[in-house]
Amino acid sequence: MQKNNPEGKKIFPEISWDKIETVMLDMDGTLLDKHFDDYFWEIYVPEHYSLLHNISVNEAKKQLLEKYRRVESTLEWTDLEYWSHELGLDIAELKMRINHLIGVHPYVIEFLEFCLKTGKKLYLITNAHSKTLSIKLEQTSIGPWFDRVVCAEEVGCAKEDHKFWIRLQEILSYDPRTTLLADDTEKVLRSAASFNIAHLIFVARSSSRQPVRYSPDFPSIDFFKELIPSKKRS
Ligand SMILES: [Mg+2]
Repeated sequence: MQKNNPEGKKIFPEISWDKIETVMLDMDGTLLDKHFDDYFWEIYVPEHYSLLHNISVNEAKKQLLEKYRRVESTLEWTDLEYWSHELGLDIAELKMRINHLIGVHPYVIEFLEFCLKTGKKLYLITNAHSKTLSIKLEQTSIGPWFDRVVCAEEVGCAKEDHKFWIRLQEILSYDPRTTLLADDTEKVLRSAASFNIAHLIFVARSSSRQPVRYSPDFPSIDFFKELIPSKKRS
C-alpha cells in the first residue's frame, strides 16, 4: 500500500513486554476494519436518509455530516437509539443488513494469542454502543479472547474524556504504569496519557481502504504483528 504520511515520520514502538501486565484494545479501527463504519455512516445511511426525506444523496450527506459533527467524541455519537430517533431510521437493523462487511484486521488473532500465552490481562475497551458491540462480536467471534469487555455506556462517558480512565479503574482496578493501550483515535490516547497510562500505541491503518496515517506524537503500528517480538521483522 502507498503510505501517506503528511504529519511526520512513523515513531516505532519499543515495548518491554515484561513491564506490561494489562493490554487494553479498542475495537473499531483497531481490531476491526473501520471500512465497515465508514461505509455505513458515509454511504449506506445517507442513501437511506435521502430516500426517507426525498432529497438527493449529496444533500443527505451534507445534512448528516452536520449532525455527526455536533456529537463527535460524545456518547451520543455511538448511541444507536439516539441515531434511530434523530434520523428516523432503524440504525441497528441497517447495521445488521451489512454485517458481512465487518472484518478483523490482519494479525489481530495472532496478537491476542500472544497476549494470552504471555499471561496478560486482556480487555476490550470501546465507545461502541452495546447493540453495535453484540453485532460485531457475533460476526467476528473475538469476544471470548477477552477477560472483560467494557463499553463507554457502562462507564458513563466516552474514552476521549479524562474521567473515563478514572472510572474505568474503579471497574477494572488496573495499574496505569503497567498498562498498554492501542487505539486508532489520538484524542483517546491523549486522554489516557493524562491519566498516566504508560504504553500508548496508535493504530495507523484503521481502514483497509484509507491511506495509512502515522501519529506525530505516539508510536504507531500498521499491523499488530509489529508488537509480537518474534514476528516483528517477518
Ligand atoms: Mg477506534
